[in-house]
Amino acid sequence: MTTIERAATVGTLQPLGGGFHAFIQPDGGWGLNNAGLFAGERSTVLIDTCFTESRGKRLRDAVAAVANQPVGVIVNTHHHGDHTYGNYLFPEATIIAQHACRDRMLATGLDTCHLFEGVDWGDLEISEPTVTFTDEITLHLDDSAATVRHPGRAAHTNEDAYVWIPERRLLYTGDLVFNRGTPFVLMGSVTGLITTLRELAELDVETLVPGHGAIGDASLIQPQIDYLELVWEAAREGMADGLTPLETARRTDLGAYASWLDAERLPANLHRAYSELRGEEPGRVLDLAPIVADMVAFNDGKPLHCLA
Ligand SMILES: [Zn+2]
Repeated sequence: MTTIERAATVGTLQPLGGGFHAFIQPDGGWGLNNAGLFAGERSTVLIDTCFTESRGKRLRDAVAAVANQPVGVIVNTHHHGDHTYGNYLFPEATIIAQHACRDRMLATGLDTCHLFEGVDWGDLEISEPTVTFTDEITLHLDDSAATVRHPGRAAHTNEDAYVWIPERRLLYTGDLVFNRGTPFVLMGSVTGLITTLRELAELDVETLVPGHGAIGDASLIQPQIDYLELVWEAAREGMADGLTPLETARRTDLGAYASWLDAERLPANLHRAYSELRGEEPGRVLDLAPIVADMVAFNDGKPLHCLA
């Protein structure tokens, strides 16, 4: 595998105009997620929080420096800990998510911490959504309307929600899109994410805040589709040849995508593709331990590298 120089730095808040911001945590690898913020005259709304206590506190300090009032609402884009473990640091906020997100957060708890070694987690607590929706909900942010929409299918997870502010052509994708990061559908669906990304590409997006990596625009979407199509093809051929997902991963030429962060997600993505090719329900919960072991094996035996 390609060795990539990694450099994690603290998160910084980047203004996007009209009170909207992105909290970006380089380099966007495992656990280094982005959050969104609306700091308006009449309301303060966060989109996701952070993984560790110290990163969550840094987000809270950054919000306090620009907001007129405490955070009233947090939207969680999905259940993954890097997007939700900091919820408890904003006890004044009402937490909103797709209903399956709440279920998965409660089922998963703090188990995600066991996947990554050497991280100083702090004193984390689960703070789950108390308001849930099925398809979409609209937030009225001063004079802008923000649509929080579930794509209607498994994609990155079963319960993704993206936030679209048409008036500003601004899209917060959560982990439906990464910038130079390897897509990850272990808990979602290869075909579902491809379909969802095609739908996002139809929106008239000017500014795209991905779930991980630098702020970009709509051009971030197509390479993610291309990668997933490569995974799907590799899975079809690998399955036909009687190979395991790990064997298929090892013979797959990722080409340009080998330089994306966290390339060891490939065998996990192939496990999901195999599940779909077997006709299993999209997004069904797969047994995590052997799949994580395959990612470690693919990564030359090195544990998943989380710099959070
Ligand atoms: Zn995620």
